[in-house]
Amino acid sequence: MSGYEGRAAYLRETLKEISPIQALQMVMDEDAILLDVRDADELKDGTPTAAKHLARGQLELKVHQLIDDKTRPIAVMCAGGLRSLFAAESLKNLGYEKVYSVRGGYKNWKESALEIKIPQQLNSAAKERYARHLLVPEVGEAGQLRLMKSRVLLIGVGGLGSPAALYLAAAGVGTLGIVDADVVESSNLQRQIIHGEDQLGELKVNSAAASIKRLNSMVKVEVHPHFLDETNALDILKNYDLVLDGSDNFKTRYLINDACVKLGIRNVHAAVYRFEGYVTSFGGAADAPCYRCIYPELPPPEMAPSCAEAGVLGVLPGIIGVLQAVEAIKLLLNIGSNLVGKMLRFDALNNDVSLLEIDKAPGCLCGHHADEIVIKPIDAYMCGI
Ligand SMILES: [Zn+2]
Repeated sequence: MSGYEGRAAYLRETLKEISPIQALQMVMDEDAILLDVRDADELKDGTPTAAKHLARGQLELKVHQLIDDKTRPIAVMCAGGLRSLFAAESLKNLGYEKVYSVRGGYKNWKESALEIKIPQQLNSAAKERYARHLLVPEVGEAGQLRLMKSRVLLIGVGGLGSPAALYLAAAGVGTLGIVDADVVESSNLQRQIIHGEDQLGELKVNSAAASIKRLNSMVKVEVHPHFLDETNALDILKNYDLVLDGSDNFKTRYLINDACVKLGIRNVHAAVYRFEGYVTSFGGAADAPCYRCIYPELPPPEMAPSCAEAGVLGVLPGIIGVLQAVEAIKLLLNIGSNLVGKMLRFDALNNDVSLLEIDKAPGCLCGHHADEIVIKPIDAYMCGI
């Protein structure tokens, strides 16, 4: 008998081995953790539905993140019941009091006809492509799969939408919808970097779709070559998890806001003016403010000029649009702190970055029931409800 086998025989005598059925019973009756310690590539064949996964190689390093109560029972499972003995011994040494090894491991679990799930996994091309995401603990394989299942709608592929669309595509967001009825003009190219000289005169949605496909053919692009109005807003928006508002006029921003509030969709909103830009998020919580909480009334035209009227530094929407993409990814992955109830303002001329608080306004439309919110004709979108 080798040293390894001898050690395993000793552990079998000194540690408690339980059957898969006993393990499942402990999960149900004693709130035990069933811990699958096989490597990630061993899970292709499935894992018990009730199991948590933590590979043997990571066990000592990360088990405290998964199980902080050292009196909670743990049933350790591997492929055949050997590695789990050594893992159980390690857990005992770490101070976990009630540790058991599942006899016969996953092989025995399957033969016992107990419930399993087949975890979704990235294929090898996606693993290679998103390798830098997989190294980030807040993203990882589960986060990447989540991004790949996500549907984001960009309203406008202009100064803000161009960088946002490219980075969301590069990040692997599965479906990008694009709403824009304009065609590419020469004066757009100073900032709208998703379009090129060879696309002048093309519909922006088509030009953007071609650029996205060139960057990441795994991304599905849905084009909506329309001006957003009361006849199409709800039908288009309802099919997405999240909206990025990169529109350049107040009527459309109110319309997007009202449609998102009515549909309960998160809205990552941004705007730019010369050297300044801001980004904020609406929706996602009962106390979240909306666009109308900030601007209940349409500002007079001289107070709110568009880029076409006031001009903008070409780089500025690049920065703000990328901040929108960062916010969108964080919201999709539910990580970090978001910009709900906050406005991030960037002043490029004076190197000033500030975070302002936004309160929900009493009586605002966002406090109303969805059925009470009426999507008005676009030209009526000025102020009030
Ligand atoms: Zn509001």
